[in-house]
Amino acid sequence: MQKDEQILEISNLNVSVNNKIIIKDLNLSIKRGEIHAIMGKNGSGKSTLAKVISGHPLYQVDKGKIFFNNKDITYEEPDFRAHAGIFLGFQYPVEVPGVSNIDFLRSAYNSKKHQIGEETLDPLAFFELVSKEIQKVNINSTFLNRSLNEGFSGGEKKKNEILQMSVLQSELCILDEIDSGLDVDALKDISKSINTFHNSQNSIVLITHYQKLIDYIQPDYVHIMHKGNIKISGDKNLALQIDKYGYDNFV
Ligand code: ADP
Ligand code: MG
Repeated sequence: MQKDEQILEISNLNVSVNNKIIIKDLNLSIKRGEIHAIMGKNGSGKSTLAKVISGHPLYQVDKGKIFFNNKDITYEEPDFRAHAGIFLGFQYPVEVPGVSNIDFLRSAYNSKKHQIGEETLDPLAFFELVSKEIQKVNINSTFLNRSLNEGFSGGEKKKNEILQMSVLQSELCILDEIDSGLDVDALKDISKSINTFHNSQNSIVLITHYQKLIDYIQPDYVHIMHKGNIKISGDKNLALQIDKYGYDNFV
């Protein structure tokens, strides 16, 4: 696959939940290899957009289309999208007591590999793979044998989302407020892992409120969402302007 190809194309998207309209006539197009940041006030619909792209069943697409690698995925199931290469790092990762982190990771990895007809890994081979990945993310290997996210600190949960992203090697990674609640060191670690992960074949969507993450990761485009739509798009200087003058002066 080539760079410059469209990886995600959203046209005229309208989304509602429980009959409440949340996203209205939204357009967004992302090419392979690009990093896009999405900013905007609380409640502007950023998380909803992330969930709709990954196929959350609660959110209803009333109108419009979502194309991933030129395939219409508007009504595909979430697992189909995940296997196809879409990853969503949650704003609030859920705790799953009783499911070990490494079992969860291997099961997600193997399920994807199986679906695309590639080799799955036994526990030993997978441990080898994941051991390399945890070094990149800078988390301790003891996290692998703990229950998924159970008792993890905010920062540890976010690092664990990045670990999942690295293990799954998805083509389109949407990271919803991956920087919220992080201390300075964890923010640096996470930014570094994202930069290491990013290459010309994958694309990243960063949903964020903070200039720091934009400074570390240097997105190609910055979009400002307001009332369920992208109101302005620009380069990373747009984020600087927002930081300086606030959203209200722009939307
Ligand atoms: P953001 O991530 O930009 O803060 P969200 O996408 O979480 O915004 O929310 C956008 C709007 O949609 C908010 O008004 C929120 O209350 C509403 N919303 C989102 N999910 C639901 C839901 N499951 N039920 C009812 N309202 C929802
Ligand atoms: Mg949100």
